Amino acid sequence: MASLDATTQARLQRVRDRIERAARAAGRDPQTIALVAVSKTFGADRIRQAVAAGQRRFGENYVQEALAKIAEVARTEPVQTAEWHFIGPIQSNKTRELAERFDWIQSLDRLKIAQRLCQQVPAGRPPLNVLLQVNISGEASKHGVAPHQLSELASQVVGLVRLRLRGLMAIPEPGADPARQHASFAKMRELLGQLRRELGGSGVDLDTLSMGMSDDLEAAIAEGSTMVRVGTAIFGARKQ
Ligand SMILES: *Cc1c(COP(=O)(O)O)cnc(C)c1O
Repeated sequence: MASLDATTQARLQRVRDRIERAARAAGRDPQTIALVAVSKTFGADRIRQAVAAGQRRFGENYVQEALAKIAEVARTEPVQTAEWHFIGPIQSNKTRELAERFDWIQSLDRLKIAQRLCQQVPAGRPPLNVLLQVNISGEASKHGVAPHQLSELASQVVGLVRLRLRGLMAIPEPGADPARQHASFAKMRELLGQLRRELGGSGVDLDTLSMGMSDDLEAAIAEGSTMVRVGTAIFGARKQ
């Protein structure tokens, strides 16, 4: 185990405090909100420091960078210490690595990618947890499924036995004012509610709404987020 780094520990504690305050303000149990530490561009040493401070879930955006770090962390930490979430755009020639090395894929937005992931989950591994990324800001983003195509994609993904659909993820346009942040997050909550009703009979438990980052986690939690993805507030500013 890495020795405890005071800065990472203090920053993590501040983020946990923010989550707790936002949850209480919304009349929610803070335990129902998971924290994914987004470690993209930071090395395995920083991840180990976060692990030493009690952090378990990590989010990565770039496949090659992530694979190197996952292997490096696994050299010194017991298996299962870290849970890896892929949150970046998915290229179809990288799905095998994702299916083999990650615990969650949060950025699924196409059936073709879902089918490939399903075929590539190694035998003996539990189904791969997936979230459908929704394009909640319209033309501002080229990633994510459009809200009006969400039902169809979700019903197709539910049919893929090696995938376990857990819910939805969104990245609202950056820099929106608080009213627009709330509106986007509220729309996500409504979309998840609608999907739950539509898929209610199929035995799937859509328990996850991944939204909220360093700058907007309070708004996301107020609107029902169950998983925030926080990079800068934990690891500091990224160089690239
Ligand atoms: C980088 C990133 C984050 C973290 O953003 P911060 O503003 O640094 O907290 C969260 N989600 C996704 C999908 C990201 O790419």
